[in-house]
Amino acid sequence: MESPRKFIVGGNWKCNGTVASVSKLVDELNAAVEANPEDFKSVQAIVAPSFVHIPIVMQRINPLIKVAAQDLHFGHCGAYTGEVSADQLKDLGVEWVIIGHSERRAGTASNYGVMAFESPERVQWKVSYALSRGMKVIICCGETLHERKAEVSIDICKTQLWPVVRAIHSAEEWKRIVIAYEPVWAIGTGVSASKADAEVVHAGIRSWLAKEVSKEVASNVRIQYGGSVSPKNCMDLAQATDIDGFLVGGASLFAESFASIISAGAKFGRNES
Ligand code: PEP
Repeated sequence: MESPRKFIVGGNWKCNGTVASVSKLVDELNAAVEANPEDFKSVQAIVAPSFVHIPIVMQRINPLIKVAAQDLHFGHCGAYTGEVSADQLKDLGVEWVIIGHSERRAGTASNYGVMAFESPERVQWKVSYALSRGMKVIICCGETLHERKAEVSIDICKTQLWPVVRAIHSAEEWKRIVIAYEPVWAIGTGVSASKADAEVVHAGIRSWLAKEVSKEVASNVRIQYGGSVSPKNCMDLAQATDIDGFLVGGASLFAESFASIISAGAKFGRNES
């Protein structure tokens, strides 16, 4: 039986790539799978291209690498201009979705200027609808630098996760949830959290889940770390007891870097139940 905490590494390609560059990246990833199939069997690898590139990636990528959307609409199809529903993603064969990335959340969405996108309620609706359609969800949380300095990192994660936790109604749904702890100050900065600092937050989230949900959910749910993960720092981070994988931005745009992070997960990650 597969471990409930199989190491899981996601690559968030964000708003990057062209048909040509994405096709090349997929071909290089496929070559990496062929070179090291065992690593890609022991670690769950996922890539999240832009919506427009999802069909190309789905057609081309080795099935050992799953495909995720970077976001989705909070409900069904209909008159929602510019949105993409879970129903449409499922129709394409997309199993995974990332929800609540800090680049989309209200208050930390500086990349979008003054516009605030994801309120906790919207994040909750999105998680609920995605789960109701059978999707697997990577739900992001994480504090800003200001909040880290105020030593409220775990409280911020709890506040962001609480509406989501309320939207998950069964043990079966919990099996389709992965939490990504992504400190905002570490994203795209080249400054990763240390293994010790990340572990404190991961363990804090887990013990909070044990109290608020159940011991079983807390010990089985996977918690990824994200924020400037690279081939250099991943070996150390992968050894932390409560780090079950990574969500990788910049380094996932290079097949060689992404593959070496997968291999580090296979070698050093905690990979048993
Ligand atoms: C991310 O955006 O989810 C992320 C972790 O980015 P990076 O690895 O570039 O810091």
